[in-house]
Amino acid sequence: MNCEIICVGTELLLGDILNTNAQYLSRELAALGIGLHHQQVVGDNPDRMRESISKALAESDLVILSGGLGPTADDLTKEICCEVMDEELVLDEEILQGIKNYFSSKGLAMPENNSKQAFVPKKNGIVLKNANGTAPGCAVEKNGKIAIMLPGPPRELIPMFENEVKPYLAKKTGGVILSKQVRTFGIGESDMASRVKDLLNGENPTVAPYAKDGEALLRVTARAENEEKAARMCDEAIEKIKQRIGKYIYGIDCQSLEEKAVELLKKADKTLALAESCTGGYIAKRITDIPGASSVFEYGIVSYSNEVKQKLLGVNAETLDKYTEVSEQAAAEMAQGVRKLSGADFGLSVTGFAGPDAASDGRPAGLAYIGFSCAEKTQVRELRTGKNAREYNRYVAASNALHMLIEYLSERNDKE
Ligand code: ATP
Ligand code: MG
Repeated sequence: MNCEIICVGTELLLGDILNTNAQYLSRELAALGIGLHHQQVVGDNPDRMRESISKALAESDLVILSGGLGPTADDLTKEICCEVMDEELVLDEEILQGIKNYFSSKGLAMPENNSKQAFVPKKNGIVLKNANGTAPGCAVEKNGKIAIMLPGPPRELIPMFENEVKPYLAKKTGGVILSKQVRTFGIGESDMASRVKDLLNGENPTVAPYAKDGEALLRVTARAENEEKAARMCDEAIEKIKQRIGKYIYGIDCQSLEEKAVELLKKADKTLALAESCTGGYIAKRITDIPGASSVFEYGIVSYSNEVKQKLLGVNAETLDKYTEVSEQAAAEMAQGVRKLSGADFGLSVTGFAGPDAASDGRPAGLAYIGFSCAEKTQVRELRTGKNAREYNRYVAASNALHMLIEYLSERNDKE
């Protein structure tokens, strides 16, 4: 099956919004092993849309459209695409009622315009449920061609693709599609990719690398007759990946460092406290993003000034004098200090230069010391991002702190 994407929207052509749907869909299709040959962007103009869609359907088996399913007069994707495919649209009373209910749940009456979203392909199509908005998507199959129409907002398009389109495409290609993520920390994307290079060329399962904000991950996707077999194929590929880069892997199929950290703390029945300087509460924020964090997280102190570092955390004045507040020694005392003060099992600390400017003593932005303290030891990691991007440096410093905790807890798990 070969495929083409058409993203609809004048806003895209004007550069008002970034075409993240194209990136998302392209990645997903690659992971599914569906060849993507073209991408188009077209404005909300009926003639040009007609032309784009006809051309795409002539060249590709599958055309995925994003945008233009809304209630307003310039939202025309469904109307034009069905016209090109010679498929009639009819009102679906159940969907109409669903849209009315959506509005009444907010205490509003449905604007007349929205009834247009309840029209669906009459004979040759299926409706794709929208759990996050009023406009359902749809797929039309005719003359050996498939057109899939999805809403523009990513928070609607992504879940719809995941929950509705993937199973639909799996049926078309015969079977189920399953993905698993291998999350790594401490290895660069290109280093990771070169170590698993041969696996990246596979067609089933596919293995695709991604990198974001100091983390690298691999997504393994398998297509098979049933879920059990697809899972086995994924696991076999993951086994090979583990052999190559096992020591960098912190989680399989988890969402983030913070999720893993909270999971491991819960499992070990241990608690955490934080002393954050340059991250300003970022670790605390990420930990408390995870539901159920309250059972493992005591508190965090944003110890920005040296006075607070001394008074609250008990960092020695001599340490600060001799080594400054951005030092291995200060990080160690901060982590120890907050652990003792809170009575938590673990203390984590960060002290560093977030940037964008270098420190007054000439040390670079992106230099940070991350402390980890538990009853039996205190450790410090030095981080040098080499970047003067403040947000990035703070995020990556927080990630390193979470990773130190994960590393300790995973090793402890392995020993037990
Ligand atoms: P709505 O019901 O919100 O009108 P729609 O399906 O008609 O949804 P559009 O009107 O095309 O979609 O776009 C709505 C919004 O969705 C845009 O303002 C933009 O924020 C986002 N969006 C649309 N297309 C894309 C895209 N290709 N990439 C990222 N975001 C997009
Ligand atoms: Mg719209």
